[in-house]
Amino acid sequence: MAGLVIAMDGPSGSGKSSVSRGVARALGLRYLDTGAMYRAMTWWVLQQGVDLADPAAIAARCGEPRIVSGTDPDGPTIHVDGVDVAGPIRESEVTGAVSAVAAVPEVRVRLVERQREIIGAGDIVVEGRDIGSVVCPDATVKVYLTASAEARAQRRSAELAGTTAEAQQEAMARRDTLDSTRKTDPLSMAAGAVELDTTALTLEEVIAEVLRLVKERT
Ligand code: C5P
Repeated sequence: MAGLVIAMDGPSGSGKSSVSRGVARALGLRYLDTGAMYRAMTWWVLQQGVDLADPAAIAARCGEPRIVSGTDPDGPTIHVDGVDVAGPIRESEVTGAVSAVAAVPEVRVRLVERQREIIGAGDIVVEGRDIGSVVCPDATVKVYLTASAEARAQRRSAELAGTTAEAQQEAMARRDTLDSTRKTDPLSMAAGAVELDTTALTLEEVIAEVLRLVKERT
């Protein structure tokens, strides 16, 4: 792989999206949000009325939707069979179901394959849960972002209208547990990753630290 690949993993609310987009902008790289792809698959599964409690049914159909991700950090896009799903994939119905869909091994095989196609020759920042460990173990720089449970919940509730930090903290804890304990490619820190705790840092400080790491490695 010739180009630069920056793998940005971590739990929800750790700041992955803002940091990844900021780093991509600063370095003129593309940006891929793999969480949006799992959300898009989940949106499609819900639309089709596939039983979420039946992993075999999800596995049997997950090859059908065509999921297309736009990689401009200033305006990332996500379409399923030509339908713009950027709004619906952030709604609570999808957020509540995504961990179950993402735990199905066939879903992961399919989406990891798409992700590798998009990464291609590199020059991209890729955010997710398993980028440094599974999707791109050869990434130039692997970052694992963390933050305290309180800070993560506060960030999310500031983004979403109508939810309290307490409710967010509960929902996020549930999703973290599901994502970290699933059998296939659980959320974990990759070998060679640098852990960055963002609790007490501003977005600009985190971006500056990642840029420093990139400079050090290239
Ligand atoms: O990052 P985001 O919160 O949008 O991700 C939604 C869900 O997609 C996660 O909770 C996780 O279940 C799944 N996911 C994953 N692997 C990735 C990215 C996201 O399993 N690389």
